[in-house]
Amino acid sequence: MTRARRAAGHAALGAERDEVREPGFWAKDAPAVPACPRIETDLRVDVAIIGGGFTGLACGYYLRRHAPGLRVAVVEAHRPGSGASSRNSGLFGAYYAGWRRHMLIDAELARRFRDLGRRGYDRLMAFLAEEAIDCDVLPGDTLLLADAGQASALRAQGEGWRALGVAAEWLDGAALAEQIRTEFYAGACGLRTRWRLHPGKLMSGLAAAALRAGVPIYERSPVVDVDSTRPARLTTRRGTVTADRVVLATNAYTPRLGFGRGSVIPVHHAVLLSRPLDEAEVAAYGLAAWPARLEVGVRTHTMRLSKDGRVTMRETLGYAARNSSVWPDLDNAYEQSRAAYIVRYPWVRGLAIEDRWHCISAHTENGHVVFGPLGADHIFASVGYNGSGVVAGHYHGYLLARHLAGDTPDDYRFLCDLPRPRPLRTERERRAYIEQGVGV
Ligand SMILES: Cc1cc2nc3c(=O)[nH]c(=O)nc-3n(C[C@H](O)[C@H](O)[C@H](O)COP(=O)(O)OP(=O)(O)OC[C@H]3O[C@@H](n4cnc5c(N)ncnc54)[C@H](O)[C@@H]3O)c2cc1C
Repeated sequence: MTRARRAAGHAALGAERDEVREPGFWAKDAPAVPACPRIETDLRVDVAIIGGGFTGLACGYYLRRHAPGLRVAVVEAHRPGSGASSRNSGLFGAYYAGWRRHMLIDAELARRFRDLGRRGYDRLMAFLAEEAIDCDVLPGDTLLLADAGQASALRAQGEGWRALGVAAEWLDGAALAEQIRTEFYAGACGLRTRWRLHPGKLMSGLAAAALRAGVPIYERSPVVDVDSTRPARLTTRRGTVTADRVVLATNAYTPRLGFGRGSVIPVHHAVLLSRPLDEAEVAAYGLAAWPARLEVGVRTHTMRLSKDGRVTMRETLGYAARNSSVWPDLDNAYEQSRAAYIVRYPWVRGLAIEDRWHCISAHTENGHVVFGPLGADHIFASVGYNGSGVVAGHYHGYLLARHLAGDTPDDYRFLCDLPRPRPLRTERERRAYIEQGVGV
């Protein structure tokens, strides 16, 4: 994604394809996002933001705060937050996805990522306080789990965390068998500095805050074409949006919109959600000590406990052909996912599953976000959080807004200066990359 342009052939691919997007548990369990209008006529704005998730809505919200004179529109294909922002595992902390790869290689860069992560975390926490949003923030004592082949690399990573001043403890297989009641893993790195939240409540709180701040949000208005001449012109089914500047906050749907093909890789996930467990069950299943777990490696799994005792279980499914946002056989994927969890935690066999959903996240070859202007200086993006978008989505939306308001923060420049991900141009390369292993 080095040049902003009208993407050749993207009409053949079409914009995002998941026409029907049933809400998952988190969205249903949160205050409803107020109904927003569709685009029914042509609009003229200063900044058009495509995508109404964490990134797009944070960008709109902070634009109202930092540049109240600018005319802004957020254009969302479905309902605000109906993408990854209300479907994720809600694990977060003062860290940045990109840094893990650099931790043991470039200490100075790792420190900069650490500080970026801390500022992003502080901004999100300040926002929750400023807007009085209660999204069930809980301690997220998190295990990064490894099998025998991954254990020594993960152990070294734990030392990297410690060198950066992040408390990290090593647990061997025997400790894990005792503490989390599974013999599946060879070792784990325990991080006590993480948190869990309710993604649906964060999302609906953010949407409400953006609406209160006066951000016009248009829903059910998929952008089917972006003509990035100046001013840019977005085509929706019932009207166009002409804008001096455009922000792509379109996550893993971006390649289908014609940008970032090969640089932004959509990765599919299946998520299962259990009935609420009572305290005795939580204790018996070993969920109390480490309520959040993330496997490193291929087709990774995340498990977390919610405030009301529900267990969510996420599994990476892989890459679907042609950057699709649709997974071909979801019923089968959910069944396989459940089976994969039973292998890890036999008690899952008797557990009633009350909800399940699918979603895509955006990954990149080098772990960095595609951020800032795309060649031309009027089309911007923040896409590719590599599975860590709760803090990054919010903070990057903030950084983009500050830049568009004419007051560019250092963190904006730092992100723009990072090496852009190398595009994986063929289907084979993209699939192989995912099969080598990505986490969330
Ligand atoms: C299963 C799963 C678990 C995850 N767990 C975690 C976690 O524990 N912690 C963490 O930090 N991160 C996690 N993530 C990642 C995190 O959810 C995302 O990085 C984050 O939500 C991205 O926010 P966003 O606003 O950029 O994208 P999204 O929320 O996906 O929003 C993009 C929006 O753009 C809209 N859009 C797309 N194309 C168009 C178009 N053509 N026209 C108009 N609108 C369009 C979509 O409808 C969508 O609403 C997880 C992701 C998944 C899928």
